[in-house]
Amino acid sequence: MATNLTGSCMCGAIQYEISKRSRLIVNCHCTICRKGNGSAFSTYAAVLESGFSIVSGADSIQTYALGEKGEKNFCGTCGSPIFNKNNKYPGFYMVHYGSLNLPHNIEPSTNVFFDNKLPWVCSIEQLNNFAEEMKK
Ligand SMILES: [Zn+2]
Ligand SMILES: [Zn+2]
Repeated sequence: MATNLTGSCMCGAIQYEISKRSRLIVNCHCTICRKGNGSAFSTYAAVLESGFSIVSGADSIQTYALGEKGEKNFCGTCGSPIFNKNNKYPGFYMVHYGSLNLPHNIEPSTNVFFDNKLPWVCSIEQLNNFAEEMKK
């Protein structure tokens, strides 16, 4: 039997479980996601709303409305983004990939808003790489 995916925010107040496997993991390179998450691009697991449950910390979830586009849900204590709702995809939550406990189990298959990607993204392995923190 497949183990459920689990996840949390950084401070641990919010814990969630995904009972139905995500069918699609996407990297979004759009400007809204870039601003909203402070990252070069954002990775999401699209999961059925009916397969997503908050195990604890539901009262810590803060919601920011993105106008007609949807909403962003994040931890009111530590600020970690947990999931977005995109009004174009009713019935789905776009779970922030980095909040998953074992993100290496599942990989993105798709880039959206790829024309908007930052030019260095595709050559990330060419940077100066350190296995852990940068050494002086
Ligand atoms: Zn938190
Ligand atoms: Zn986006």
